[in-house]
Amino acid sequence: LNYQANPNRYNEISYNRSGKSGILLPAISLGLWHNFGFIDSLQNGREILRTAFDYGITHFDLANNYGPPFGSAEENFGVIFKNDFKRYRDELFIATKAGFDMWPGPYGNFGSRKYLIASLDQSLKRMGLDYVDIFYHHRPDPETPLEETMLALADIVRQGKALYVGISNYNPSETAEATKLLKELKVPFILHQARYSMLDRWVENGLLDVLNDNGVGCIAFSPLAQGMLTDKYLNGIPEDSRAGKNLTYLQKETVNNNIEKIQKLNEIAQNRNQKLSEMAIAWILRQKEVASVLIGASSPNQLKKNIKALDNLSFTEAELKQIDAITIP
Ligand code: NDP
Repeated sequence: LNYQANPNRYNEISYNRSGKSGILLPAISLGLWHNFGFIDSLQNGREILRTAFDYGITHFDLANNYGPPFGSAEENFGVIFKNDFKRYRDELFIATKAGFDMWPGPYGNFGSRKYLIASLDQSLKRMGLDYVDIFYHHRPDPETPLEETMLALADIVRQGKALYVGISNYNPSETAEATKLLKELKVPFILHQARYSMLDRWVENGLLDVLNDNGVGCIAFSPLAQGMLTDKYLNGIPEDSRAGKNLTYLQKETVNNNIEKIQKLNEIAQNRNQKLSEMAIAWILRQKEVASVLIGASSPNQLKKNIKALDNLSFTEAELKQIDAITIP
């Protein structure tokens, strides 16, 4: 059956401006890093995407290498897009990236002009899109001159293959340098994508200030610390969880090392009448630089639960102090 989006979708969640730009992002966005590869169920992926859009989640985040195998999340997204979302194209803000290992040889990784331009061309073909809304350099490249990488981003925009550009995983000084170059090139640079959660607070040490000074928004990835900041691991490691599946990204050992913190944070959440996952998302949105919290979900139900975070976004000073005491070493 043809997909008909929920007619009330824009009354469900809130939208925040990304830095000083024209773009509003949903407070919660959906990432396709896991759960959308050829190893996963296409039907489940389709249901997650439909649920997201029905709740007004307009922003989907991909990268060249999401899968596994590499490229398969974009290819699956392309199939779903063609069937379900093509007529909603102008209501969607779609991201992809290049910067990590993608294809063999010297041109399929890091930050050369050769890699970025070829990779985006491949991504557009896999997704069946004429352009992406934002294209990111996925991580800084210590060898390639930053001018080369930034000029490639600028040319991608001028070729009409991306409307905006972003960077990801750049530290504060790299970000400041990139910002300067992109300003000189007059490129619409509107987002920095950074890992941020109660268990990983590195962005608070300078990055958010640089972004604020330059009017660039932040989109926070792995806000649930890949599922650790939910009630999933409170009583052990379920086999069908990301840590249980041994997919290498979230190790059982990491869960075990954090379980005490997770339990304490869960108590604070319970006192707020929130799920831990809801509190984890709300806590990130307290930062004015954060335009959107970029979650992953392995089912439509998880996504629905996480959207409930928006029902209570306020924190007392006492709660924030308790969270600091648990999470700042
Ligand atoms: P999260 O921290 O939101 O983790 C998502 C995972 O947590 C889910 O797949 C699910 O895992 C579990 N989960 C989510 N909600 C619930 C719930 N309510 N109850 C129980 N478990 C839940 O984010 P990700 O690490 O997935 O990252 C999100 C996105 O950020 C990615 O898809 C990608 O787009 C982007 N990203 C960007 C990076 C970059 O370098 N720029 C790096 C990493 C991510 P389970 O399978 O166990 O159910």
